[in-house]
Amino acid sequence: MTRGRAEFSGIAASRGIALGRARVRQPHALEVEQELVAADAVDAEVQRMHSAVATVRAEMHALRQRLHGALAHEIGEFLDLHALLLDDPELLSGIDALIRRKRYTADYALRLQRDRVANVFLGMDDPYLRSRIDDIDQVIGRLHAALHRRDADLMGIAGDVLVTDTIAPAELAQLQAQGVLAVITTTGSALSHSAILARSLHLPLIVGANPALLMSNDGDVLAVDAGAGRVVRDPDDRDLQDHRRRQEAFRRERRQLNRLRRLPTRTSDGVDIRLWANAETREDVAEAHALGAAGIGLYRTEFLFLGTRALPDEEMQFLSYRDLVLGMTGRTTTIRTLDLGADKSDDTGLALRGEPNPALGLRGIRLSMSRQALFDEQLRAILRASAYGPVRILLPMVTGREEVLHARATLDRVAAQLRTDGIAMADHVPLGAMIEVPAAAIALPTFIGAVDFISVGTNDLVQYVLAADRNNEALGELYSPLHPAVLRLLHDVIRTARKRATPVAVCGEMAGDPAFAPLLLALGLEEFSLHPSSLLEVRKAICACDLAHLRRRVGPLLRLRDRASIQAWLQSATPA
Ligand code: PEP
Ligand code: MG
Repeated sequence: MTRGRAEFSGIAASRGIALGRARVRQPHALEVEQELVAADAVDAEVQRMHSAVATVRAEMHALRQRLHGALAHEIGEFLDLHALLLDDPELLSGIDALIRRKRYTADYALRLQRDRVANVFLGMDDPYLRSRIDDIDQVIGRLHAALHRRDADLMGIAGDVLVTDTIAPAELAQLQAQGVLAVITTTGSALSHSAILARSLHLPLIVGANPALLMSNDGDVLAVDAGAGRVVRDPDDRDLQDHRRRQEAFRRERRQLNRLRRLPTRTSDGVDIRLWANAETREDVAEAHALGAAGIGLYRTEFLFLGTRALPDEEMQFLSYRDLVLGMTGRTTTIRTLDLGADKSDDTGLALRGEPNPALGLRGIRLSMSRQALFDEQLRAILRASAYGPVRILLPMVTGREEVLHARATLDRVAAQLRTDGIAMADHVPLGAMIEVPAAAIALPTFIGAVDFISVGTNDLVQYVLAADRNNEALGELYSPLHPAVLRLLHDVIRTARKRATPVAVCGEMAGDPAFAPLLLALGLEEFSLHPSSLLEVRKAICACDLAHLRRRVGPLLRLRDRASIQAWLQSATPA
């Protein structure tokens, strides 16, 4: 492969600037063709495989040493399991045998052995054991990368830019703890849960960078501007200067935005808009607090269930929720019940794997209703946390009245039980529904009386209204809220809620994009829930808007017939 300066690009998923060495992780399904080595090269090939094993073992050991703090336990478990797999005599002797007997290359032997082991795991009945195939793939992926490492002493991954085909949400925190500076994936979308989590961690992420794996080798220097979706391999002097300029501009922008920290979110004609925070980590909570968020508008509890093997029990959940509530010091915390499923599949085997159509499958409130004991336990934990500060409960993936009534009845039953047991909790815990399934948006008048508030999940709503997978970058522009159907639906939902004096927020990523602020204000929205990392930018955008003027322009907006004219409306409505 020819090296030297080259550029490639992808989709900006989490902004940030990074300069580091590439760490390439090959796709799980190794696309390695059958290839033979000469008879006299067999020993050397076996040796090559053995050095790769030694390298990976040493890397994992070094990694284990570096882990400390809260993540150590969780990630340590993964590493222990991976070390066990790596030491499995059958795995390795099988590879040796394939190289010696059949004269296969180490790569091809690795692939055959992976497929053999994978078939054994895939045939298991236990969903937990079946899901261990991911661990096998991670170990095999590490071995494959080690076989191709240019720089033998490249051991740690601190200071590296990870280049991979895909990244799971559960891996991101682990990678950041290991010192990874940025992640580039060849697939994925800016609205995936991995992207949301990356923004929450302030970890630069570029997705859908198709040529990234082809164009990067371990050890290449990569200059990454994740906000621009741009990567320069082996940057020259001019690139490095440009990189420094971009970094400086990024820092300057952050400093300017910081001046808005203490200001209210008020339109230019004096209307106060509520900015809630979508918070997943302790850092998010601290940031939400520091930036003056009204409270937490969305806490995704499924992140407690990701990256862990054992289900968090009531006590563990209670402690997490309690700390969250305490962290908000009197401001309301909205805790969403479990929304596992689709791209948020867990390691506990709770979310089904292998569903033919997971986005339309057993996820969100459906999963909770099918696991009633688990739902009870989660509601108990949330209610107990409500003794420490104001809490609201939000139900994901609601399709209609029955689910809300079922959840309400469960909540009442669980609360009555807690009271009987003499356990402290708030007198009133409002119950709300996510509006993210078209059926719920269309039929909102049929159940709005049964909820205390609603929160519109545009990430899923857009996906389901347009039948466009939120994680499929091949769909390009198709997945966009700038479609007349989406705008009409949003307008109807907001109007219905306002008529009934029911609080309504948008908590999808759309609310966190300052470019959409004029549009959402025009549609009547007065509550936004967004990740704290974009709170100041959205505050700045809202402060520049004249609300009365925008509201007058909603009629023409709703009469527009295509994406291009909606885009033009948005441009004309955006203050200079
Ligand atoms: C949404 O769908 O817009 C939402 C906020 O929920 P999630 O992204 O967790 O699916
Ligand atoms: Mg959703």
